[in-house]
Amino acid sequence: MSEEEVGFNIFYLLLLFAVIYPPKEFISLGFTIESIFANYLGSESIFFINYHINRSCLMLMVHSIVPIVYLMIYYLYFGVKLPKIVFVQYFWYMLIVLAFLLPIGALCLIYYYKQNNWRNHPIAKILQRYSNTPNNPESWMTVAAEINNEFRRTDKLIKTFSAITKIVVTENWIMKTSLYFVHFAHQSDSALIAVNTDSHNISIQDTNDSAQFVNIQVTPTRDGIKPFKIRINSLDFKELQDRINRPIVILSSVKFHTTIIDRFVEVFHSEIERNPRYRANQANLDNCFACMTKKPDVKINKHCPDQGDDRCTNCFCRPMWCSSCLARWFASRQDQSERETWLNSKCNCPMCRSRFCILDVCLLEDE
Ligand SMILES: [Zn+2]
Ligand SMILES: [Zn+2]
Ligand SMILES: [Zn+2]
Repeated sequence: MSEEEVGFNIFYLLLLFAVIYPPKEFISLGFTIESIFANYLGSESIFFINYHINRSCLMLMVHSIVPIVYLMIYYLYFGVKLPKIVFVQYFWYMLIVLAFLLPIGALCLIYYYKQNNWRNHPIAKILQRYSNTPNNPESWMTVAAEINNEFRRTDKLIKTFSAITKIVVTENWIMKTSLYFVHFAHQSDSALIAVNTDSHNISIQDTNDSAQFVNIQVTPTRDGIKPFKIRINSLDFKELQDRINRPIVILSSVKFHTTIIDRFVEVFHSEIERNPRYRANQANLDNCFACMTKKPDVKINKHCPDQGDDRCTNCFCRPMWCSSCLARWFASRQDQSERETWLNSKCNCPMCRSRFCILDVCLLEDE
């Protein structure tokens, strides 16, 4: 194989990978199968089901012509050079026949799906199982119309995981799109279990900067519907839980990472425990100014023996913040790239702007 041929093979492989799993740059340039054939696919936001039936057929067709396009370009550029060994020659003939058969097979399959208004398509078949009149072969369309309707609303949750996989939660449905298919689960008859988590470092310098993903097994109890897994960033877990009208069971082995800020709040608590207390009548305090749920339990009262230009000043505000919210406020005012220095840093009182350090944060004690 000449250098040129090797180069062509590598280029074609990369192109193939970019066509099947388009990187972000391709998506933003509109260089994806979906955007090139946007007219054929129709509008996903208006006809979600029809769009995905069309999309699955389009993917099938485009992917099936990959080998034949490869062979055609190859022979146009490099000519016919059959290997000398007879056995290898037969192998090549078989590959060529297969390359011709693939698109024919894909066309036949799509023709079969399309019969009777797409009744044979796997998406239609799965929706048929959800219909109230499974004996009427057209009833999948009623379910499809219901899903299209829910998808048109603004209250849906969409989490895109890759160019081909996204998770959609509407009022009653949980759906996951894949290369040639869409998984469906009706929320009313599905069990959701968070089975495990995995973490990936997103920053090379900082091992604390990792993204955690939760894998959730969705098991529809309806006959003939296969369970599937959805995977979301653990920061989105709460949002997902809020959108689904049934609890997600979390296995005891699943441990969610606390964020950097959560970890700082814990350290902040243990640090201020050591400071002197501030005596105050806690009975008539309003709820915390930030979270509105907890009672204020700290007061900024200068105790530190600091000197220099950036000196702490006394704060005369009433206790208005709870210690967790004050810790979050403190963390949010610090240099995010220098976490080691947070505890020794200063911050301004969120109400009166007076300077304070952690030594000045006093827990309240009843008078
Ligand atoms: Zn609070
Ligand atoms: Zn103040
Ligand atoms: Zn201070």
